[in-house]
Amino acid sequence: MKKLSKSNYLKGNQCEKALFLHLNHPELKDEISEAQQALFNTGHNIGNLSQQLFPGGIDASRQDFFNFKAAVNYTSELIDQGQEVIYEAAFSANNCLCYLDILVKKNGKWYAYEVKASTSVKDYHYKDSAFQYYVITSSGLPLEDISMVYLNKQYFRQGELELDKLFAITSVVEQAKAMQAVIKQKSKALLSLMNGKTMPIVDIGPHCSDPFGCDFHGHCWKHVPEYSVFNISWLREENKFDLYQKGVLELKDIPPTYPLNANQWLQVNADLNNSIVRNQPALDAFKSTINYPIYFLDFETFQAPVPLYDNTKPYQILPFQYSLHIKRSEKAPLEHREYLGTPPKDPRPGFIQQLVKDLGNSGSIVVYNKGFEGGRLKNLAMNYPEYDDVIRNFLSRIVDLMEPFRRRDLYTPDMRGKYSIKNVLPALVPQLTYGDLDIQEGGMASLTYSSLYDDQDEQSVLKKREGLIEYCKLDTLAMVEILGVL
Ligand code: SF4
Repeated sequence: MKKLSKSNYLKGNQCEKALFLHLNHPELKDEISEAQQALFNTGHNIGNLSQQLFPGGIDASRQDFFNFKAAVNYTSELIDQGQEVIYEAAFSANNCLCYLDILVKKNGKWYAYEVKASTSVKDYHYKDSAFQYYVITSSGLPLEDISMVYLNKQYFRQGELELDKLFAITSVVEQAKAMQAVIKQKSKALLSLMNGKTMPIVDIGPHCSDPFGCDFHGHCWKHVPEYSVFNISWLREENKFDLYQKGVLELKDIPPTYPLNANQWLQVNADLNNSIVRNQPALDAFKSTINYPIYFLDFETFQAPVPLYDNTKPYQILPFQYSLHIKRSEKAPLEHREYLGTPPKDPRPGFIQQLVKDLGNSGSIVVYNKGFEGGRLKNLAMNYPEYDDVIRNFLSRIVDLMEPFRRRDLYTPDMRGKYSIKNVLPALVPQLTYGDLDIQEGGMASLTYSSLYDDQDEQSVLKKREGLIEYCKLDTLAMVEILGVL
């Protein structure tokens, strides 16, 4: 008889077919991305750190993590021996199993703590803790309380980490109790599915990404063309699935009476007629806002769940790199400047000092997505008030090259409804490509920079730094070329 673990309960709760495929056809899973792996590692590290909130405990997990029986027996032994703090306590009841991050006995009563790397209690965390409450209490251990432990987004680090301030603890016992009947019924249904041989028939739907992206996306969505109604920009998910349910997958099959807005019809018609939309007066008006010297600027950033530096909070977005191409006049040669931080040092002081030297005090600063670069500059002004005036000057000079594409002043079918630089560049300047680079998008740049904190291999560090420099440089060169096309 197969047993139901918490992760399988949550998977089956999202989609029964996903649980069946996971158990019977794991080979159909999508590859785990580096970003997913990084997320998993983050959760693990936060879990270990949170144990220090309740020091002196014993880890009940066994060498073979999947040997639940040994872990359950060991947890039971530890409880019988009078151990009052247990990490990774394992429980089993009604053919269900769970590991609990931290179990604590206070004044003769048991308290359960489940740790998350998030900065708030999410809806799906309630199901998670309700399942644990169900298994633990059904196994015979009464719980006085069950709580979520997560990162406190109000915490600003000053000096040593203060764990009691870094972590927030919220009781979810009332929600867990209220869900017990549902958990009992659903776990019975999932157990019978797991121990049967029939794959549930489930079509694709919003559940494929809610609350998590499903591992079997590639398998279940293979009948959906690469470019389909799911790529229509700003179209609500319910409308996309409405079209799908009506058998409409390709843009050419959308009924002319379907309620799309003007921008969406522009995308659909450009694709059908293979035509380019170009609003020259609007493009000219945009260009007239740009003055020499022109500074093409792009930032790369990363987020540390546990603040690494003073005056930073969990997941604060920290800039670690910029690339800057400068065109001082129409005929002047293109100049390039760059900055890349050196872990473990805080990248921000060097970043802002050099930026102030490189950006001068006049001329347009062209970025792609003003909200992002502008937001980082405002954060820097908050963290380093001595630069407040100069940053205000930078903000007043920013021009957003994304705007004409967001407004669709220029649109080609190759943009496929999107206006990010990664879609606009290949559509307008196909000879300039990210394809040959080690790093091809911002998320990968963040992960690469974060990995430098633990990398002791000189050659590997050098290679990663070169990759970061090449990638960021291409982002600003792309802006130079795109403005050229306009
Ligand atoms: S991709 Fe969607 S339908 Fe397929 S298993 Fe996953 S959640 Fe279920």
